[in-house]
Amino acid sequence: MPPFAGEIRDGYVWGRGAVDMKDMCAMVLSVLRSWSMRGLRPRRDIVLAFVADEEDDGAYGAGWLVAERPELFEDCAAAIGESGGFTFGTPEVPGVRLYPVGAAERGTLHMRLVARGQAGHGSRPNPSNAVVALVETLTRIAAYRWPVRLTPAVSAYLDGAARAAGVSFDASDLSTVDEVVAKLGRAGVLAAGTVRNSATPTVLRAGEKVNVVPSEACAQLDVRTLPGTCDEALSTVDSLLSPGVRRELLTHRDPVSAPLDSPWLHAMAAALVAEDPSAVVLPYCLGGGTDAKAFATLGIACYGFAPLRLPVDPAEYDYRAMAHGVDERVPVDGLRFGARVLDRFLRTV
Ligand SMILES: [Zn+2]
Repeated sequence: MPPFAGEIRDGYVWGRGAVDMKDMCAMVLSVLRSWSMRGLRPRRDIVLAFVADEEDDGAYGAGWLVAERPELFEDCAAAIGESGGFTFGTPEVPGVRLYPVGAAERGTLHMRLVARGQAGHGSRPNPSNAVVALVETLTRIAAYRWPVRLTPAVSAYLDGAARAAGVSFDASDLSTVDEVVAKLGRAGVLAAGTVRNSATPTVLRAGEKVNVVPSEACAQLDVRTLPGTCDEALSTVDSLLSPGVRRELLTHRDPVSAPLDSPWLHAMAAALVAEDPSAVVLPYCLGGGTDAKAFATLGIACYGFAPLRLPVDPAEYDYRAMAHGVDERVPVDGLRFGARVLDRFLRTV
């Protein structure tokens, strides 16, 4: 489909942003418009911030607003944004419809690795080859098995998903976490990337000419950290560097975590269950990042809550493949469900 036409076909709205996150903008606007038409007023002020630039780093959007206009968010105790409140089916456990609500995000450490070595002719032996040192380092980092770290949101998610699936889970025994994640099948996939830190080589640059060993080789790493593990991540990467390789920090954004036992989360769960009585609502940790990283620095409890009812069978509709993916689309019924849930939530919270 044309990516910006918003065609409705086969019960879906098709187009870039259908689930990330034009759906949420449309649902919020439709709820508030219906309020104004019915003369309804919320119990408390609702601040709407439609911001640009999330897909880059928010410097011109949420980051700028937080830095330059924090007074606009005075007295905001909680916030909702993308990535949460959607149906997450588990084919392994028919009939269970999980609704993960974002209550944490891993932090971001983007790094550059710079290897320096002896420049020279490609035909001569060179014990100090920058390219080799960098490749060895990247191989070591890519192979490194980060230790399991259970954080409150991930622990609560695994506990709830294991209960729903009839799988035993003991949060105090970290040695069994990978096994439990595997046993949970699709439900485990949502947590798999958030039980440990990760470091992914993404950019590589070295050399210009095939017969010249360059004096320098560079790479970039996308490191994601769990709450409270930033220093550990930096020292771990340092311990994996070959001699002659140094690390530079490009960006550092702290992990986000919001209270799990909060009236906001309870109100979100109540609104979801009211519209889907078989909903199993669980907090979860996002593997990536959102603008919550900016707003959380103002002390706002940030949640991922853009409710959608979705088909449970990933063969029919694979939600996790939509954002940034091919043929992004969202079910029309899912949007209507989401608008009803938001209406309930925003009127009762
Ligand atoms: Zn995105």
